[in-house]
Amino acid sequence: MLKVIPPFEFVSENQAVEFLLENYFSPHFSLKQKVYYKFLRKLIPINVRQQIQEKTYSSIKYKESFIDSELVDVLKTHPEFEKSVKHFYPDGARSALVLTHDVEEEEGFNYIPKILDLEEGLGLRSSWNIVPYKYKIDEGIIREIQSRGFEIGIHGYNHDGKLYFSEKIFNERVPYINSAIKKYGAVGFRSPMVHRNLTWLQRLDVEYDASCFDYDAFQPFSGGTKSIWPFIAGKFVELPYTIPQDHTLFYSLKQINPNLWIEKTKWVYDNFGTILVLTHPDYLINKEHLSVYTEYLQYLRGLDNVWHGLPRELAARWKMLFSPKNDLSNPKSL
Ligand SMILES: [Zn+2]
Repeated sequence: MLKVIPPFEFVSENQAVEFLLENYFSPHFSLKQKVYYKFLRKLIPINVRQQIQEKTYSSIKYKESFIDSELVDVLKTHPEFEKSVKHFYPDGARSALVLTHDVEEEEGFNYIPKILDLEEGLGLRSSWNIVPYKYKIDEGIIREIQSRGFEIGIHGYNHDGKLYFSEKIFNERVPYINSAIKKYGAVGFRSPMVHRNLTWLQRLDVEYDASCFDYDAFQPFSGGTKSIWPFIAGKFVELPYTIPQDHTLFYSLKQINPNLWIEKTKWVYDNFGTILVLTHPDYLINKEHLSVYTEYLQYLRGLDNVWHGLPRELAARWKMLFSPKNDLSNPKSL
């Protein structure tokens, strides 16, 4: 069994394990999903796929799809809760803001510099998870990302949806993914379509994984860790995203405003959680989408007492604070 360490001293490993490892949901492929990814997905045009998704998701209630407060409510009632969360983020911040992007296609990749300008202009930085074996990767853009203080992460192998079909397939791809991690100086990984298996992911040479989420009913492997904080999962730090994906907002729910993002952000912030955002340059090429993202970033900049940094920086802090090898008797001094 994978060793999981929640960031709360008063929660035992056993108590947390069912939530954080998603034992209630056991994310994995159903037989129907396997058939779909193996044979059908490539035959169905993208617009038809989106229509099917819309139909499937129209029955999901808006708010219930993004907030599951079960774990947070239990933790909050504990007398040690506020004492514990106070040392989570640097400078005694109330919350942390981490921006991440998954880059799906070459068109999205080539659009990266435009978003770099936008985020840099607002004093923000982010990570860019690239697919190493799918599209042409312009080394000039990679250098630009790195030299401007942003981060590169790795987003799967070739994004064909089959990475988790079997442990054999996963293992065959591990050396290729590890060599991309090395090539691009990455320390983080996120699986395509947020498919996940934290035990298999231990084979990657990473400091953190970001394939989990706190709660998101719109994903093929639904469920969630219910945690709005990172946690230690085996050798790495898991950074669950906590804000709905742009694809869900723009395509599944047809929202052309940041209200849902802001609503979830307020809840995460109020509960001292980590605001971890996942967007795609591919969807931000659309001007309306870009203006929604810009408005949301401006809202985020206006939040008080929020630490902002790269995912690798938050992961390093979590390792420092919560790795078993460290003396946790006085975490405030760290
Ligand atoms: Zn993706």
